[in-house]
Amino acid sequence: MALLEGKTGIVFGVANKRSIAWGIAQAMAREGARLAFTYQGERLKESVESLTSTIPNSLLLPCDVTNDADIEAVFGKVGEAFGRLDALVHSVAFAPKDDLENEFVKTSRDGFKLAHDISAYSLVALTRAALPLMEKNGGGSVLALTYYGAEKAVEGYNLMGVAKASLEASVRYLAANLGPRNVRVNAISAGPVNTLAARGIKGFTGMLHHHAERAPLRRNVELEEIANAALFLVSPMSSGITGEIMFVDCGYNIIGL
Ligand code: NAP
Repeated sequence: MALLEGKTGIVFGVANKRSIAWGIAQAMAREGARLAFTYQGERLKESVESLTSTIPNSLLLPCDVTNDADIEAVFGKVGEAFGRLDALVHSVAFAPKDDLENEFVKTSRDGFKLAHDISAYSLVALTRAALPLMEKNGGGSVLALTYYGAEKAVEGYNLMGVAKASLEASVRYLAANLGPRNVRVNAISAGPVNTLAARGIKGFTGMLHHHAERAPLRRNVELEEIANAALFLVSPMSSGITGEIMFVDCGYNIIGL
């Protein structure tokens, strides 16, 4: 039997075919999940639709994660269409370009707020909105995407690293809060992947080379490998795991010197 047969999920963060969210969604659909997707604003609707329309029985809904009315509308529609929810994938992040590129000490107040709102608080807001549909179901699994720059200072990652630290702490606090309701919350800390968001990071190509040279597996992680780990975390295969940050980075994070 397929791993997610009869299950439902919602995936936030598909921008194009390179998106980590798209890799995860394809794996979830392959394993039998019925999926809902969101896109941010009309600008992206057509390109996201051209991908998600290839997934049978899927839903596509607009959602800017900084907008509470959008979030409420999304989960209202998912409730009507699916009646329940097993999995939520949060693959969304943003920080203003200036705040990523400037010296960290020059980070603006507005940039700091926006990066945390989109990249960290949204996990709390989306999980809260998903909760009634997951509880109806006897539980569920929430998955976020993070990066090593949450733990260590990584050149060029700057404000995004601070927002990811907040995201990772939110994973742990949500997991502690919602465990008694059988809702699990985990994150994958992925090695660098060449996506739209990643290209906003100054020196990203150098980062890819550096990771591939230093990682124990001597290469960069493939999107499919992140997707397979995501499948594990959103499926009952990981039923005893919550509050974890799981590295899928070809082992890069274990290296000291
Ligand atoms: P991506 O394809 O550019 O995905 C980022 C997504 O965030 C886009 O769909 C983007 O939509 C969405 N987003 C930004 N602001 C939003 C908002 N206000 N409301 C709703 N959606 C919004 O890049 P990705 O690399 O796959 O990123 C996915 C996740 O993986 C992020 O959390 C990222 O930090 C994490 N991650 C990436 C890497 C990497 O090397 N690529 C490594 C570790 C972790 P728009 O395009 O419309 O803004």
